[in-house]
Amino acid sequence: MYTLSSSGHFRDVELVIGCGDMPYEYLEYIVTVLNVQMLYVPGNHDPRFDPAKKATHAEGGTNLDLKIIRHNKFLIGGFGGCIRYRPDGINQYSQADAYSRAFSLLPRLLLNRIQYGRALDILISHSPPFGIHDDSDPAHHGLKALNWLIRIAQPRYHFHGHVHLYKRNLENFETIVGLTRIINVYPYKTLEVSL
Ligand SMILES: [Zn+2]
Repeated sequence: MYTLSSSGHFRDVELVIGCGDMPYEYLEYIVTVLNVQMLYVPGNHDPRFDPAKKATHAEGGTNLDLKIIRHNKFLIGGFGGCIRYRPDGINQYSQADAYSRAFSLLPRLLLNRIQYGRALDILISHSPPFGIHDDSDPAHHGLKALNWLIRIAQPRYHFHGHVHLYKRNLENFETIVGLTRIINVYPYKTLEVSL
């Protein structure tokens, strides 16, 4: 979960961002209380999205998986899911599948570059990139497609979840790569963002 605010207080939150694996009832509760827009991507513990089934998405929010939208002046893109570690896992992708998904964002990224002079401002994903905030167990390998997306789209921010922070990795939640601040938002953070 990530929240953007002008002063770091919940009452000033302008946008709620869910990075996956948060119960949809909880996201719905937050969006009701704060009465602001909410964008989210699904995680590996979330159901498979089905527009016809209410329980597969969060009411009052926008599932941003493989979408890029403009919110105020920010170009925000979403990339749900994580590495495939179970054959029947939901919202899980092989590295190759994840690349295919990332490539599908290219036309919009190029259009943004032409229209706004930049491809993307904020990338929201469930998984971390490969080798950044990820872990050695099969369920927590990062996705290489995210490293590629960051390299070509150069967003100012990349927010992700999936990797829980414990004592041993508590310090490892923020990394800067090129122009991008990569932040593990577990369990939640408030942040003021600017372009
Ligand atoms: Zn997860």
